[in-house]
Amino acid sequence: MTLRSVGELQADVVVVGAGGAGLRVAYEAAKSGAKTIIVTKGRIAVSGATAVGLASTAGFAVPDGAGDPLDNPDTHYKDIMTAAQGCADPRLVRILVDEAIEASEDLDRWKIDFIRDGETGKPLVAQGDFASRPRNRKIYHHGRPITVALKGEIERLGVQALEGTTVLSLLQDEKGVHGLLALGRGGGLVRITAGVTVLTTGGAGQLFRLSLMPSDITGDGYALGYRAGAALANMEFMQAGFGTIKPALNIVYTWFWGGLPPFVDKHGKPVLEGTLPAGASGDEAMLKKVEHYPFSASDASKWLEIATKNAMRDGRADSVGGFYLDLRNADPDRIPQKGFSQLWKVSKGWLQQKHMNIDAEPLRIGLFGHAINGGLVIDEHGQTLVDGLLSAGENAAGPYGADRLGGNMLLNCQVFGKRAGRRAAEIGRARTPSGGETLGQAAVEAVERRTRQGGSRPVSEAHRRIKEVMTEKVLVVRNEAGLKEAEADLVELDASLESGEFKVDSVKDVIAWHEAAHMIDVGRAMCAAALLRRETRGSHYREDAPARDDERWSRPITVRRERDGAPRAEPGYFGVQP
Ligand SMILES: Cc1cc2nc3c(=O)[nH]c(=O)nc-3n(C[C@H](O)[C@H](O)[C@H](O)COP(=O)(O)OP(=O)(O)OC[C@H]3O[C@@H](n4cnc5c(N)ncnc54)[C@H](O)[C@@H]3O)c2cc1C
Repeated sequence: MTLRSVGELQADVVVVGAGGAGLRVAYEAAKSGAKTIIVTKGRIAVSGATAVGLASTAGFAVPDGAGDPLDNPDTHYKDIMTAAQGCADPRLVRILVDEAIEASEDLDRWKIDFIRDGETGKPLVAQGDFASRPRNRKIYHHGRPITVALKGEIERLGVQALEGTTVLSLLQDEKGVHGLLALGRGGGLVRITAGVTVLTTGGAGQLFRLSLMPSDITGDGYALGYRAGAALANMEFMQAGFGTIKPALNIVYTWFWGGLPPFVDKHGKPVLEGTLPAGASGDEAMLKKVEHYPFSASDASKWLEIATKNAMRDGRADSVGGFYLDLRNADPDRIPQKGFSQLWKVSKGWLQQKHMNIDAEPLRIGLFGHAINGGLVIDEHGQTLVDGLLSAGENAAGPYGADRLGGNMLLNCQVFGKRAGRRAAEIGRARTPSGGETLGQAAVEAVERRTRQGGSRPVSEAHRRIKEVMTEKVLVVRNEAGLKEAEADLVELDASLESGEFKVDSVKDVIAWHEAAHMIDVGRAMCAAALLRRETRGSHYREDAPARDDERWSRPITVRRERDGAPRAEPGYFGVQP
């Protein structure tokens, strides 16, 4: 195949990704007077996790006391720091809570309709994962309304949007990053030079066999920043949780566990059997699970995911990796948490539209890879360690750690998207990209070389292998031997990719090849951090080191990429060295 000739574009600010964070960055940058381009693999307000249609509602944290008069930004701060267990950046957490109310006022201005209480007409406020107070407003259709509103705003401001365009690599020299090289669906390469490049590509859910993250979420931004020399932090703290597998993908709502439903394997045997230790209670695990969606080793709910992973290893899952959650006799009115019986009804109706009737048959559910609590290390304005390179949203680390409060990620995208957009405009207008035409030539040649390598293995096989390795050896239950094997498997696969064993003879293949290379980098960074963290904390569980070790590990781990591509994980710190 031949790729079409290189198109050239120039901007003050180029934003990679158009979810909640990317759109907010583009909006703020353009509003501040910067010539702004936004590039996304998919379509705006359709692709990315923010617009995903796999949850009926999304939580958006607002510590304004509407759910509890004792709530305020200080309580919110304390909740985040408690959940983070020593691994969050206190400066970024402070900003997040102090600017949350303003962020919700922006959403009000854009007429984002929060779900309202049937009787009072006020926004419904529910308690989110790991929170001590109800503070999450709920948005129907997840974060999609935010993306729709921001799409309108950026169009109004004249931001140039390149949809269906995948960023393959960054343009970089010794003075930093100066833009990017991207590939459009039609096969046209485009080189965009810019004073500032902002990475907002979200998480890396596609590293796992089952994920609620859409197919475009392959960790590209983590890898692009990491390859450019930026540090990653907290990559071992990736969330996992339950989702429905068939007939459709969907989140399993935490409130469903409050009905204490039977949860069995393909033989009808309780999933917890064989894992739940003597003296531990399955009911307690389920009631704790109501409090948070993602897996956390911090409380008794952990037995649900650990038992499920053990059952997967023992061949107790059905042909699609599924187990059965039977809600037919569950009574939502028994759930003590405020607002949950109303949410149960909303969720039930939502699942019915997807042909899942919880009153008629058990849900077929599995263990899914979810959002990442870590990412690129940034300062208060989204600046990474590399000149000309900023990041925001799920792609960046800092405002959370070992566990993350629900409703904080959509909030983070608005708060840090705004800050990064403003700073990007400031730097982007002043910084002249260097390198001229030669910059990026090597990247173009590298892409073209891959298309001439003539391999025979389909690139989809590489994706499949990454998901297999990460699901079997890194998802939820980890141990030293498994993590080392995963690292070795990924290194071997990387060598096969580089040596040209895979067939790259369509635009789709070129994109898939780069995604695979990026996922390998991200997977290796996760393994390196998880291997170094020889303890258990929050979303990171080591079955060979099941206790929390505060003396050594009440701090983040950072990962930098060595010249040969190997990850170098080190105990790190945010801001002030402990
Ligand atoms: C089912 C589900 C439920 C959730 N519930 C909540 C909740 O209730 N509250 C909450 O706060 N959070 C929730 N989250 C998490 C939250 O939705 C995400 O973390 C957040 O939306 C991420 O936003 P983002 O802008 O960082 O990235 P995304 O919205 O994922 O956008 C990433 C963008 O980058 C683009 N992209 C990726 N790679 C490239 C590339 N190489 N080139 C060009 N473009 C690229 C994508 O196409 C997309 O446009 C949930 C997530 C899921 C999946």
